[in-house]
This record gives sequence, structure tokens and C-alpha cells, in this order.
Amino acid sequence: MKVLVFDIGGSQLRAALWDSSSQSLRHRCASPSPGPDASSRADPVAGLLEGMHSLAERVQSQGEAHDAVGIAFPGPVDGAGMVAQAPTLWGSALLQPLDLAKAFGERVGGCPIQVANDLTAAGFRYREPDSNFCIVTVSSGVGNKVFLGGWPVLGPNQRGGEIGHWRVDDAADAAPCDCGGRGHLGALASGRAVREHARSLAEKECDLLRASSLRDFDFLADLPEPDSGVSEMHRALASAYRNGDDFARAVVAKGARPMGKALALLHLGLGLERFIIMGGWAQALGPHYLKDLASAASACTWDNGGPWTEWIEACASDDDSGLIGMGRMLSLRAER
Ligand SMILES: [Zn+2]
Repeated sequence: MKVLVFDIGGSQLRAALWDSSSQSLRHRCASPSPGPDASSRADPVAGLLEGMHSLAERVQSQGEAHDAVGIAFPGPVDGAGMVAQAPTLWGSALLQPLDLAKAFGERVGGCPIQVANDLTAAGFRYREPDSNFCIVTVSSGVGNKVFLGGWPVLGPNQRGGEIGHWRVDDAADAAPCDCGGRGHLGALASGRAVREHARSLAEKECDLLRASSLRDFDFLADLPEPDSGVSEMHRALASAYRNGDDFARAVVAKGARPMGKALALLHLGLGLERFIIMGGWAQALGPHYLKDLASAASACTWDNGGPWTEWIEACASDDDSGLIGMGRMLSLRAER
């Protein structure tokens, strides 16, 4: 089976052809996403369809036909394939559910099209028959998907996999979340949260900052909000963190602690013993971040002998999980 796969991200639209017989991707191509700026245009959806159509033509120009189309979308997708929200792409500009398969099908026609949440799709890269695991993304936001018995578990109304909106800070003035709530995991443990953690520690822990390689960085300045979640400040912090800088470690710990607590809860509630960590911010921090998560998770559970450092692992180092997972998902569903 050959699947034309798309992975729609906040900064890039990507497409390729997935071949299930060789389990490989071919003819990869990409273009900039119609990102947050597009929300001010009259019809942001038209820009997305235009970009996808153009990538489809580039893949098809290689002369290989496809049997199906799979679209990994960065937002909640219901059981009927309707996109309910699109915060990563358009903030709150999507006013009504979007039937992306129908809209794209009207332009290309001719074969089945399926839309899935991008993290659900990525999980299919790592699933084996009967496997149980949780895939977690730590980027500009936080999200997760649980796989049990080899299949994603999203609940009767597809509402599962949103630990980013679990309230972990009850303070009335807790950090605001993109959803409008406060103190949610995504507001504390994401790449976007790091700016505020760094600013607050720069004020309170002057000695730690003075001894840091980041001492000349102005964390109190009004830094621009990065679209992709990784700014110059993020890169500097991640580099210092990887080099063992105490100030950077303290900043990252502010997000790693509640993140570890969430993993501990998933383990205690469901018995999961495999957590795959992906996302731009987690990948920028590298292997030590996984150890910090393991320590934080271990500190939040009873001692049942769990080797947390073995239970938490990094995703593949490439950026192909959404494309490969989407192809595998459609191939598997076609076989069922
Ligand atoms: Zn929230």
C-alpha cells in the first residue's frame, strides 16, 4: 500500500509517499506552514489547502500513484475526522469544526483520505502489536497519547491525550495556559513556559545567575514570543543545560518536576512502563532531561521497584515520526 502522507506543523508543512511494503518514506518535501500570521487573512484554511495541494503535486510528479491520503494535524480531531480546534496553526481563528478530508478531497479527489491528530499518528511509528506505551510531546505545548494493546486510547469522545491541560498549580495567579485556564501542565512544563521560569529565577536567584555562563543574558527583557517554541534564549538555555550549568538546570527543573509528576500519575493509574518523549524543547535539552524526568517521576510515586530511567526514552532523532506514523496507521487500518 502506498500512502500520500502529510504532517502539518506550526512552522512547516511536510509531505512524502509512504510505502508499506518497504516500510519507507520517499519523495519528502516541505514548505512553510500558513502559521499564526494566516489567522488575520480572510480564509486561513484556503492557505493550508493551497500549501498541501502544492506539496501533493511535488510528490505525485515523481510518478508513483498512491492508494490513500493521510493527514497528521496539530490539534484535536474527533472520531469522524473533524478538526475541532487548530491552536498551533491559527490560535482561536477556527470558528467551526473543519472537515479537512472533505475540503482537501474536493481538490484532489479519487481516494480515501483520513485525518488524525499528529501525536496519535506519531505514536504509530513506535507501536508493535499489543504494545502499551505513552508518547509525550514537550514543545511549545504539552500533549500525550496512550497506546494500549497496540491501539491509541482516546475515550468515547476522543478527548484523551490532553495532559497538557491538567491543573498542577492551584495558585490563583498561576501561569496562564493557551486554553484560557491557569496552572495547567502545558503552562508550566512546555518550551513556552521556560521564558517565565528564567525570568523569575533571574530575579530571585541572583547568585546562581552570576555564577552561570548565561550571566550576560537579559532574561528580564521583553523577548519576542517564538512561533516554534525555540528562540535564541531557548537555544542558549538548552546549551547551558547540556553543559551542566546550575542556573539552566534550575530553570529546566521548574518544568521537569510537574512533567515527571504527570508521568508518575499515568504509570500509577494505567501501569504504563514505557514513555517516549518527543518535541522540540525536549529534544533540544537532550538525554539529561530524560534523567530529570525520571527523578521527578520517581519522587512522586511509591517505591515499586520501577526503573524509571529505563521506562523513559527519547523518540527517534529525525523529524519523520508524524509522516511514518501516519503511513503505518493507514496501512494497519487497511489490513484490519
Ligand atoms: Zn490548558
